[in-house]
Amino acid sequence: MKKKTKITKIVKVIKITKAQIKKKIKRLENKAYKLWALYIKLRAGNKCETCPGTKYLNSHHIESYSVFKQLRYDVHNGACACAGCHKYFKTGAWHKGFTFAYNHMTTKRKEDLDYLLTYQFTHSEAEANQPLTEEELVATIKELERLIEELNHDT
Ligand SMILES: [Zn+2]
Repeated sequence: MKKKTKITKIVKVIKITKAQIKKKIKRLENKAYKLWALYIKLRAGNKCETCPGTKYLNSHHIESYSVFKQLRYDVHNGACACAGCHKYFKTGAWHKGFTFAYNHMTTKRKEDLDYLLTYQFTHSEAEANQPLTEEELVATIKELERLIEELNHDT
């Protein structure tokens, strides 16, 4: 009886620890995401990259947010878009087919397009889908903060 109680206690502690780690990771992910989105907009000068729009700006993931977890906070993988260019314009939007994205990336973002293609050729889908570790998230946050600081200094 006593032994069982002890095991139950240990299991409880492990469960709490796991939950705490999960919470910590979630907090880091949220912070990295916010910094990434902020940087994408700042870099674009708070303007849509594909039209003259400056309202309702979104930070768009060029490669899928859910499939390419390794590129989720990678600034090569972001584009600043107004809500229309992001999702809604009938004439074309990031989320409405390949041509729109391809045209923009080949004409305006060639280096980032090459970067993303090279990434795809050198990583499996399973690798790309790995979420960042706690250490990677901490390093990513630091780097994003540095990039934002750099941009703020330049302007
Ligand atoms: Zn736009």
